[in-house]
Amino acid sequence: MKRREFIRTGALALSAGALPISTWNACRPAAKEPGLVMTVLGLVAPEALGFTLAHEHVLVDFIGADRVSPDRYDPDDVAAVVLPHLRQVRELGCQTLVECTPAYLGRDAALLRRLSRASGLTIITNTGYYGAADDKYIPSHAYQETAHQLAARWVREWQDGIDGTGVRPGFIKTGVDKGSLSAIDAKLVRAAALTHLETGLTIASHTGYAVPAREQLAILADEGVHPSAWIWVHAQNEPDTDHHAWAARQGAWLSFDGISPESLERHLSRVVAMKRLGLLHRVLLSHDAGWYRPGEPGGGSFRPFDTLFTRFIPALREAGFTRDEIRQLTVINPQRAFQVRIRKQG
Ligand SMILES: [Zn+2]
Repeated sequence: MKRREFIRTGALALSAGALPISTWNACRPAAKEPGLVMTVLGLVAPEALGFTLAHEHVLVDFIGADRVSPDRYDPDDVAAVVLPHLRQVRELGCQTLVECTPAYLGRDAALLRRLSRASGLTIITNTGYYGAADDKYIPSHAYQETAHQLAARWVREWQDGIDGTGVRPGFIKTGVDKGSLSAIDAKLVRAAALTHLETGLTIASHTGYAVPAREQLAILADEGVHPSAWIWVHAQNEPDTDHHAWAARQGAWLSFDGISPESLERHLSRVVAMKRLGLLHRVLLSHDAGWYRPGEPGGGSFRPFDTLFTRFIPALREAGFTRDEIRQLTVINPQRAFQVRIRKQG
């Protein structure tokens, strides 16, 4: 989408009542950063995101693509469990949470909009399909359709909103299995690239290790998509820093997003390595926490979103990270990563 068309789309959303005037006023992009960010409540200027957790989940339903349904839980029950956690993290200084649950794994746009309004936290949702976990969350039509047909579905969500809610996706989520890409995973990645070229939405791909990371970047290059439109999700799982550096130097985003009390050291060592290489400007941080699980009593045990604030940032400070470096990781990088902007190779 060209910038003019994009502005027109925003104006249309405004005239349709999707954006309150106050939000629209806050939307005027700064001269240096032309893109906007799409949240579950509409477009905002990137600067409005503030402190951002780049990869979290409110609800994940592991039942499988063939049986997943919002009928499997009561939104009131979910809100009762989740809202205290969202409010807690808001009090800790978080302003935006990127919700990475894709369709067929429990994405619920109406629920996210409700939780955003009730908590005061900005939430971003997604379009796209998840090919990891041995394809359990891929709907059957994805096997029959071409990458172009799948992209057309995702572009429609961008244009018209998700499931009749009017909520629009703020990024493309996909996922691939370990090792070399399967045919279906390669198709999902190609569909994500095509969707990026139509919408300007950034692609966040559950990836983990270097082999599928490199193969995805090759597909993106083949479609003319710049690596800066792609987030290597769960990059902390790849132990070899050389692969991280290779991807980051091309412009890809590294998402070290499994921060928990048990994994502090591993995440710290990854971030320290990127600092030594002068690549902190390509790094995102998060917990991959949450996960109200339908089908389990009370939604199972919900993991809070607080470790980054209570443990990881203090650990960064102790390791010599400056205020500006921490701000780069938690405020500046997410603003840039999630801007809606078509990024072409070359
Ligand atoms: Zn996740």
